[in-house]
Amino acid sequence: PDRASVAYFGAGPSPLPTDVLETAAVSLINHNNSGLSLVEQSHRSALSGQILQSAKDSFLKIINATADTHTVLFMAGGGTLQFSAVVYNLFSLWALKNPERAANGERGFCEYLVTGGWSSKAADEAKRLVGEENVNVVFDSRNYSESKKFGNIPDAGEWKGNLKKGRDSAFVYYCDNETVDGVEFPKGTPVDTLAEDPERIIVADMSSNIISRTFDASKFGIIFAGAQKNIGSTGVTIVVIRNDILTLLTSGGSLPPKLTPQIPVTPVMMHYPTISKAGSLYNTLPIFDVYIAGLTLTRLLQRDESGKTALAQQEEESNLKAKLLYDVLDKYSEIYHVVPAKAVRSRMNICFRILAPGDEAKFIKGGEEIGLVGLKGHRSVGGIRISNYNAVAVESVQKLAQYLEEYAKAALR
Ligand code: PLP
Repeated sequence: PDRASVAYFGAGPSPLPTDVLETAAVSLINHNNSGLSLVEQSHRSALSGQILQSAKDSFLKIINATADTHTVLFMAGGGTLQFSAVVYNLFSLWALKNPERAANGERGFCEYLVTGGWSSKAADEAKRLVGEENVNVVFDSRNYSESKKFGNIPDAGEWKGNLKKGRDSAFVYYCDNETVDGVEFPKGTPVDTLAEDPERIIVADMSSNIISRTFDASKFGIIFAGAQKNIGSTGVTIVVIRNDILTLLTSGGSLPPKLTPQIPVTPVMMHYPTISKAGSLYNTLPIFDVYIAGLTLTRLLQRDESGKTALAQQEEESNLKAKLLYDVLDKYSEIYHVVPAKAVRSRMNICFRILAPGDEAKFIKGGEEIGLVGLKGHRSVGGIRISNYNAVAVESVQKLAQYLEEYAKAALR
């Protein structure tokens, strides 16, 4: 089949706009009539420098931040590398902020809100790196459900009291959208609660919902997102760091220092000051992936025309597409069961079960036959998962909503 006849709902890598791929395909052979493929160009050439700068500028503009307040890094290693990187860097930061306490053998804590498979993995990595005794799991949402599975998020009132004071904590971490479990923090939460203590450093994994809704970047210490869902192709991760954090971290040395015996030394490829000082080019960065990200970001910015920002427009579209799907799922609740609780349903990853045994395989096969692909749930939880990222066209969602409707009507007959 050709691209136009396939609507792809995979969870990541996810679809990219066809015009972006067409431009990238030309560059793969002969970038800008240079006679060279972009994958053959030096990452240190002026051309690569422009691609990198333009992608950083576009990204900052989209999230309504500036280079005065935030630094954008492009890094390899996916979101998973950041699970480790934030721990190394921010425990070092804590030691730099609290030299006497660090000299006395203290390490500080890090804190995790565990709402799904990805935040759980991140918390496990922190436990591995700094020891379980230094990791405060503020809550694990499995403990708030009868099934002991992910699918809900307790109200802030239930877990606020478990937080340490900002000054004792290296950072608080959460995953804004849990890709596997279909759970998304409602807009503005939990960051508003966490930001009540100005000393608290908030880290958010936005891998699967970045640039799908507006947010206040000034409240976050670090945000990271693998590009392969809403931004571009697999291979680069965007990390946004508030400049005051980067400045203090850099005061520890531009190469990772040994601060005290109990603070782990940051491996150089994860050391934010090193990567920042090198302008994301400490080693060979896959510029082609940065280029694809830049094309997608520019395309999004081109929406910035009708008095509403590009991101506000994208948010409306994301909400609309999610509503189209949830409305049908709710309408046929005898056939479909949406897994997460209503208040925390993800707009990006719509996870549901088909109630009749054996019908999920039939549903997936029927979808594939009419060009609706990538609907299988994550192997760890099963079921159906519709990923509704930015590049999924409204028409594709409409087609899928119609299939959901027809499937349910046929099942009820
Ligand atoms: N965080 C979230 C929310 C994810 O969805 C994923 C991957 O799907 C990751 C982290 C891990 O990303 P990567 O595979 O790029 O390491």
